[in-house]
Amino acid sequence: MRLTFLGTGTSQGVPVIGCRCEVCQSADKRDQRLRTSAMIECEDCRIVIDAGPDFRQQMLRTGVRSIDAILLTHEHKDHTGGLDDVRAFNFVDYPTIRVVDIFANAQTAVAIKKDYDYAFAENKYIGAPEMRLHEIDTTKPFTVKGHEIIPINGRHSERFFVTGYRIGPLAYMTDFKELLDGEEEKLQGIDTLVVNALRFKSHHSHFNVEEAVALINRIKPRVAYLTHLSHDIGLHAEAVNKLPEGVYLGYDGLTIDIRE
Ligand SMILES: [Zn+2]
Ligand SMILES: [Zn+2]
Ligand SMILES: [Zn+2]
Repeated sequence: MRLTFLGTGTSQGVPVIGCRCEVCQSADKRDQRLRTSAMIECEDCRIVIDAGPDFRQQMLRTGVRSIDAILLTHEHKDHTGGLDDVRAFNFVDYPTIRVVDIFANAQTAVAIKKDYDYAFAENKYIGAPEMRLHEIDTTKPFTVKGHEIIPINGRHSERFFVTGYRIGPLAYMTDFKELLDGEEEKLQGIDTLVVNALRFKSHHSHFNVEEAVALINRIKPRVAYLTHLSHDIGLHAEAVNKLPEGVYLGYDGLTIDIRE
């Protein structure tokens, strides 16, 4: 199984528009972070987690021509704002229409149907995105092309819930501030954990590095990568030296092979 970080930046991305900090002006490519998203591939299946405003650019960078599913973590625009661009995948083999399967928790499904109402209208205009929206029961596993996916439930803030996903040896969690009771058990025995860490300072709706590392220390995966990073994390080259052994910063374009 192979994981590609398509984006590792927080909601505004890095650089931030107008910011003159050293991170936003850095020439190091690892400091340039599109909105958080990842692609998971095995021999017969390709899954993308989240499709934010940079989805088009991210898909162009990968060069892929098809995806089997998009899993959404929650309804925030930095995770859903690019869904209109599934149209490219719909029409890649035109006149055959390839509908894209989207999986989302109940709260996110409501937001998607509202934000993309034209894609779910009874009389759609020709060329509207073709999405097959699957509302998942986040208390139960579901499958994509025979691969079992276990939802991991958490709180993002008082108002928002968030869903992470375990796919075999990999668990991917972003925009978590808290895991719901009993959910940590679902992470036992994983090889690789991807988890959000906004910055070193604390934040009201995202784990900081300390909170992410505390979770990593409880779960004890072989390796862990931090994502959804803000410019406050500092220069990539410097921030990596502040992390414990086995914990790394994700960066856009990083590809890792995961033992199955
Ligand atoms: Zn986010
Ligand atoms: Zn900055
Ligand atoms: Zn969010």
